[in-house]
Amino acid sequence: MHKIIIAIDGYSGCGKSTTAKLVAERLNYLYIDTGAMYRAVTLYFLENFVSLSNPKQVKRALLNIHLEFHRNEHNGINEIFLNGLNVEEEIRKMYVSEQVSQVSAISEVRHLLVEQQRKMAKKGGVVMDGRDIGTNVFPNAELKIFVTADAYLRAARRQQELLEKGQEVDLDEILQNLSERDRIDTTRKENPLIKAADAYVLDTSYVTIDEQVDYVIGLYLGKVYP
Ligand code: C5P
Repeated sequence: MHKIIIAIDGYSGCGKSTTAKLVAERLNYLYIDTGAMYRAVTLYFLENFVSLSNPKQVKRALLNIHLEFHRNEHNGINEIFLNGLNVEEEIRKMYVSEQVSQVSAISEVRHLLVEQQRKMAKKGGVVMDGRDIGTNVFPNAELKIFVTADAYLRAARRQQELLEKGQEVDLDEILQNLSERDRIDTTRKENPLIKAADAYVLDTSYVTIDEQVDYVIGLYLGKVYP
């Protein structure tokens, strides 16, 4: 059967990854979390004290970064490895979230990661989530979804997720982080977050995860069996 590319973009904390992961599972597609790649680069920059305003340092750092995804057979998650080390858990922490949008606005960072993302999806059969997938990485993706949700609900969900991982974070701090990331992501010069003209809008404020997945699968079926 014809294998397509499904691009899922949207604001921070809308449940993009959860939906993308489950859709990929249902279709037996590869799931690629591009946010994890920007987060891993950010972690490397923080650990190595790379100055974001020093292009030479940024360039040198990028030459030393090797990213890979490996599937964890226990939980089915495609986990990210930075220079051979599993950083899946570390990259989700608040101190990385606080810097990731600044790092993602750097042109050299975007070029490197976009090139890798295109290579990873060469054969199709991919669900990729991020901010610029439908507009820049795969402008010809057969199915594009733009995800949005009420900011307060997004923050509350993110707080619950962090709590489940044993991290207690104030709701206001999360709300502030999500809005600040959205601000930087939507206003940066290079490939900002915007809805692609041909993307379907999915508002996850008041729908269950199953409903979100069913919605995407319904659209997928309409594309594959028109
Ligand atoms: O998806 P997640 O919230 O993990 O993404 C973290 C950050 O990575 C975003 O806030 C954004 O700054 C950046 N990002 C991006 N382009 C993508 C994916 C993520 O700029 N395709």
